Parts: sequence; structure tokens; C-alpha cells
Amino acid sequence: MNTLNEAWLAGEQPVAMVAPAKRMTRQARVAWKERVVTVGGGAPVRVQSMTNTDTVDIDGTVRQVAQLAQAGSELVRITVNTPEAAAAVPAIRERLDAMGELVPLVGDFHYNGHRLLTEFPECAQALSKYRINPGNVGKGDKHDKQFAQMIEAAVRWDKPVRIGVNWGSLDQELLTALMDANGRRAQPWDVRQVMYEALIVSALQSAQRAEELGLDGRQIILSCKVSGVQDLIAVYRGLAQRCDYALHLGLTEAGMGTKGIVASTAAMAILLQEGIGETIRVSLTPQPGEARTQEVVTASEILQSLGLRAFVPSVTACPGCGRTTSTVFQELAKQIDDYLRAQMPVWRESYPGVERMKVAVMGCIVNGPGESKHADIGISLPGTGEAPVAPVFIDGAKAMTLRGERIAEEFQAIVLDYVERRYGKQG
Ligand code: SF4
Repeated sequence: MNTLNEAWLAGEQPVAMVAPAKRMTRQARVAWKERVVTVGGGAPVRVQSMTNTDTVDIDGTVRQVAQLAQAGSELVRITVNTPEAAAAVPAIRERLDAMGELVPLVGDFHYNGHRLLTEFPECAQALSKYRINPGNVGKGDKHDKQFAQMIEAAVRWDKPVRIGVNWGSLDQELLTALMDANGRRAQPWDVRQVMYEALIVSALQSAQRAEELGLDGRQIILSCKVSGVQDLIAVYRGLAQRCDYALHLGLTEAGMGTKGIVASTAAMAILLQEGIGETIRVSLTPQPGEARTQEVVTASEILQSLGLRAFVPSVTACPGCGRTTSTVFQELAKQIDDYLRAQMPVWRESYPGVERMKVAVMGCIVNGPGESKHADIGISLPGTGEAPVAPVFIDGAKAMTLRGERIAEEFQAIVLDYVERRYGKQG
């Protein structure tokens, strides 16, 4: 042991600690009334989401926007695809305001955005940001004119825009021009690399054009979405190197369930660790019956796992094994996790800092007491063959022991009491 100590003291460098890098960008302000959501320029990475209701369905859209906002979405995008949808936007905004829900709304425009933003000024005003896809604003000489009309609306109403390129709707004229030029290189690039270039050039040229038309460069956010993990990483690295606009990050058409969550997380985690991405959206296809808010939960968890943000208290739970054959601890872990999430809309205001709380729910004595001591509050349930008692640890020390049928309810009450004492006004 001594030899080890001496060698260790004499020795090597410590293992380097890691943290997400920081990339300095311009800062956009997305505002509605007194709610201002800054994006980029050192602001926390923002979570956003998109409704899947028909915007003409005012009730349904208001309900879903509110659910997404309550789940933690700081911006919510809605489709504005028809005159009827554009006409519904001010009513949606009013209803949300009446509910006290000031989450900024982003209008998603394709093909006819120039007309809708011009012919429905109340819609243009009620939205807090416009999403413009340069691949879908018209072809040939119409492209520049229609793009300009949308930017003029943004300038007139003082709204930020996201120039959102998507490789499913990439500007084909630009792609063809780059492919032709590539053919004349002595050593042509891979077709995929030309595609990356087309995505980036489309975003950057559009941003430059928007600035020439009078839009403040700080009010421009860029995205270049693709559906492949490695493609997304390549494109965003290139984009981040070439500009200092805030970037909206997301894997488009990520898919359903585990596949969508894993693919989005894999791609975004790498980029966020490199400091790339000022706002994120996880584009999940909801499984039948699944809540749309799943995409917000996933986005928040990505940021919280990387240590970039804290949204809800985290629950550490062991996976369980042959030492715990009952499902009691799984049920308790789920119950506590659901309980904490359900409380957050209220707790966020009443108990500032509670989102950093750590709760442990463990299945047996092997790691239970140790992990529980590392948490702010933890419970170690009895494994198979262990005495039917569950020690509770608070701030690293054993505080009490629970037993009997009501362990779950009693532990929940202990958690609430801890939250009030530690994060409440008196705490
Ligand atoms: S804490 Fe116990 S029950 Fe949980 S995984 Fe470890 S050994 Fe298994």
C-alpha cells in the first residue's frame, strides 16, 4: 500500500476532467410579452418542440402547446401552412395568453410563407419567430423575391428567423451547381461531401441575404438537418466552423421509440460536448398513444445528462438483478420519478434549485446504502432474503428506517418534506 502511495504521489498527471466546450455565438431574442427566451451568446441551450395538431384546430393546438410548455419546452413551433392556419394563429396566441402561458410560438412556413406572412399581419405579429426553409420558398427568380418577402416581414415585426435547411428539401438548383462544379475538380469530392457543402452553403448564403435585406444578424438562427447521425455531426461541425450564428440542432426524422431517442442522443451529445448547438429539438415520431411531450422529456434529459442544464431532480435507480426478485423497487423508482416530474411546474417557482436534487432508489444492500449516501435523499430497499427494512439516507447520513406496506407513500412524504426544508423560502 505504501509503495502504491509513494508511486502515486510521485506520479502521473491526474485523469483530465471533461465538460462541454463553449462556442461563442451571436444571441437571438425570441420574445412574447415579458417572456424573453435568449438563444446563443452564452444562454443555456434551449429546448424546443413542435406540435402535431392541425393548427386550424385551435382547441387541440392550444392544449398541446400548453402541454409541451409545461413539460419544459421553451419555444413551441406550430405549422402555418394554409390561410386558415394563419388565421387561427392569433386566436391560439390569445387563448394561451389568457391561460398565462407565454411560451413563444414559432411559425413553420414552407412554399407559401411569403403570402401568409404578408396577407395575415396578425399572424405575423402573434408569432415570436419564423422558420424559413430556403429549399421551399420558390424556384428560379421567384426564390429570391419570396425569400425577401419573408425576411421583410421579420424586419417589419422585429422577429428572429430560423433559416432551416433540411436535406429532404435541399435547394436543388444549388446542389446541381455544386455537383457540376465538383465534377470540374482535379480530384472530385465524395458526393456526400458535396451534399454537406450544399446544406451549409444554402444556410450561409440565405443568412447573408437576410442580413443584406436588413435583418439583424443576431436574430438569425441556422439549422441544417439530416437524418443520419454521422452526417449530422459532419455538417454541424462544418457549419459551426464557418459562422457565429446560433445553431438549432436536431436530427430530422429520427424515428420512433428507442431508435429515435438513441439516434438523436448519439448525434446531439457529441456535438453538444463540442459546444455546438444553442437550441435543440428531438424529432420523435410518437408511438400510438404516446404523449407528444416525450420529445421534450428526451431533449431535457440529453441536456441534463451532459450537465448542461438541470430541469428535474434526477432519480438514480439500479437496474435490479437476481438479488431483488420483486418489482417493489422498480415500482418505487417509477413512482418517485413520475411524482417529481408532476410536481415540477409548481416546484420550479416555489423551490428554486430543486431541479438539481438527486434521489436514489436502490434494490439491495450491495450498492444501496453507498449510492443512497451519494444522493441528497436515497432509499435502499431490501433485496431477496434481506430483513424487510428500508433505510433512508438524507444528506449522506442514515436518517430513518421504513418498514411495512406503505414504504412508497412514506418515502414520498419524506421527499416532499426534504424539498420544503431545503428549497423552500425558509430553507
Ligand atoms: S443494488 Fe443490489 S439489486 Fe440493485 S443491481 Fe446492485 S446488486 Fe442488484
